[in-house]
Amino acid sequence: MKNDSARILLIEDERALREALADALSAEGFSVEQAATGGAGLTAFRTNPPDLVLLDLMLPEMSGIEICRAIRSNSKVPIIMVTAKASETDRIVGLDLGADDYVTKPFSARELSARIRAVLRRGAATPPPVGQRLLKVGEAEIDLEGQRILRSGSVVHVKPKAFQLLAFLIQNAGRVYSREQLLDRVWGYDYAGETRTVDVHMHALRQAIEAIPAQPTALQTVRNIGYVLRRSA
Ligand code: CA
Repeated sequence: MKNDSARILLIEDERALREALADALSAEGFSVEQAATGGAGLTAFRTNPPDLVLLDLMLPEMSGIEICRAIRSNSKVPIIMVTAKASETDRIVGLDLGADDYVTKPFSARELSARIRAVLRRGAATPPPVGQRLLKVGEAEIDLEGQRILRSGSVVHVKPKAFQLLAFLIQNAGRVYSREQLLDRVWGYDYAGETRTVDVHMHALRQAIEAIPAQPTALQTVRNIGYVLRRSA
């Protein structure tokens, strides 16, 4: 065990490639843990949190995208995605998965370890810029284009529907909507759910953006009517 070396979790299903990478990275002084599936990777991630995750995009069962999201939902650990085609990199960047960098196969061990060192040096604190315009709402900054909520520079994850609800209210700031209206406008007319769904998503959004979720300053309840988003100047 090299206790002072950075620990890398390598999630790659192709055995030959995985073992070759593990050997090469060990030779570069990293301590490498291998996982052949997404499930095994997530388990290894939780049991023994690494300093960096090297994640193959194309995995059976759970894709690299799902794993990246799962890790990002509660960790800022640096993630480098490994892709088979250069064309996939656009997708990765476009999806804003929160990966810190990516490498395209084939790559040399030297190139990879240089990327790893660079990402580790940069640290995990700064999420990559996506949309340029950030709107201050409550305690958070909202990136409407990148569909992200940032708080103290870190991404706060909410469900896509919750983000759509927030975006709708931002775009219609100051207007009061009933729960039924919000269901219609955000979920769509054919949605068969209950108005309580709106409350559940609102609760999650308040947790994400309000300083004191129980005393919201931005996402306000209008008694007997519904909700309104108030933006401070
Ligand atoms: Ca693969």
